[in-house]
Amino acid sequence: MPRIIDYLVQEYDAEEFSRETLHRPLFDVNMRLFRSSPFYRQLVMDTINYMDAHLNMTFEDYPAPRGVSGANLGIPWNIIGFKHQNKNKFCINPRILNRSTEGVVTETNCGSFRLEKAVKVFRSDYIDLEYYDLKGQRIIEKNIGRYQAGFVIQHEVDHNCGVCITDKIVKEQSVVQEPMEQLDREVPISPV
Ligand SMILES: [Zn+2]
Repeated sequence: MPRIIDYLVQEYDAEEFSRETLHRPLFDVNMRLFRSSPFYRQLVMDTINYMDAHLNMTFEDYPAPRGVSGANLGIPWNIIGFKHQNKNKFCINPRILNRSTEGVVTETNCGSFRLEKAVKVFRSDYIDLEYYDLKGQRIIEKNIGRYQAGFVIQHEVDHNCGVCITDKIVKEQSVVQEPMEQLDREVPISPV
């Protein structure tokens, strides 16, 4: 029997989301309700399942995404998901507490824009991230680097704050260019 989520995923068309929608900061999930109301919690978990299904898809005109934000899918909540060590991980109300001033210029694209050509943006080498896990527990992770999905996290957290890669383009000339393996990967141009 088809599930509602299958219909939702079929209906998804990133281009239909206007730039205006993508530039609107999202609401935090109400963690008090998340812990106390089974109904509210179920709504949030259904949303996360929808994001999970999206992360597992491969689009005809876009390779399988590595990260997804509420903003990408027209979801009102500040939730992000990303692939890390062959698993999909989700963070509720993610907030970057600190970012290193040192960083690299990466080449990136975005599932919501599917730009013809990847653009260059600056990413911090390390970030400290606060978020709530799926049990509603507050977590702080420090020094998340690019190999811990640090660049993808910065991309997705930006989305939920209403910031897109097209707002952050840097003109810097590349020194060493690595081939892009896959869109939405944040490929460092000057490897650290
Ligand atoms: Zn994006």
